[in-house]
Amino acid sequence: MNVKEAYSYSVSFLGANGVDEADFKALTVVCHVAGIKNNEYHAHRDDFVITRQLADCLWKLKSGEPLQYVVGKWDFYESEFYVGEGVLIPRPETEELVELAVKQLKTVDAPVIIDLCSGSGCIGLSIAKAVPSSKVYCIEKSKDAFEYLKKNSDGIYNAILINDDIFNDIDIEQADLIISNPPYIKTDVLQTLQDEVKKEPVMALDGGTDGLDFYRVINDKWSKKLKPNGVLMLEIGEDQGKTIIDVLSDFNSVEVLKDMYGNDRMVVAKI
Ligand code: GLN
Repeated sequence: MNVKEAYSYSVSFLGANGVDEADFKALTVVCHVAGIKNNEYHAHRDDFVITRQLADCLWKLKSGEPLQYVVGKWDFYESEFYVGEGVLIPRPETEELVELAVKQLKTVDAPVIIDLCSGSGCIGLSIAKAVPSSKVYCIEKSKDAFEYLKKNSDGIYNAILINDDIFNDIDIEQADLIISNPPYIKTDVLQTLQDEVKKEPVMALDGGTDGLDFYRVINDKWSKKLKPNGVLMLEIGEDQGKTIIDVLSDFNSVEVLKDMYGNDRMVVAKI
């Protein structure tokens, strides 16, 4: 089967099985199997596709596995990150946080950064690559996620990986920037999430009863790891824009910023 035939077959297979976004998912798995980027589809319409490998991908999608896990990697900011079961899938909203951080870091000489709850490393490793003079500590508790973090950090020598829980006391130097996209979903909301999101690790999503547990520890413990002029940048849930200001009580200024969809999504705080 060639790429073009594989694509139309996949669209009908996924559509007939009630998989949402059948077009995009079909295009992505076909290009993945063909070893090309989605935007190279037209130039490679006549290439040969290994149907066995494609069939595996289509069955995984039919069973509700997230597209990103099926193809095993995902674009984020300026690189590709390995992802799979046990690690949170990088989101476009989080790219905006990285953009903000990189802009801020341009003004700091050899900055030290701490990325809390690193997961795949999409935040910390993207910063390490974009700001080569920086030193980035990436802290991740989950063993599974840590394996992805290690794999993704290959060749990035200014990133230091720590497999630990941010609720523990971790001996680390003070930073110019502490950044995090911590778990922030309320525990009782987890059950109501889309089926595909439920395939992502609970540990990466569950922010405790009110969804704010991680922000509390960041305020109580991690604020002390900031240099006097240091900045805290966080991703938050769209309904947390007001409460986060109270939670970050050790900070003098707390600014809430919106994402590309117009929802409260980021916080920039200073001591
Ligand atoms: N920092 C990672 C991300 O933004 C993981 C976040 C998490 O596990 N909550 O994707």
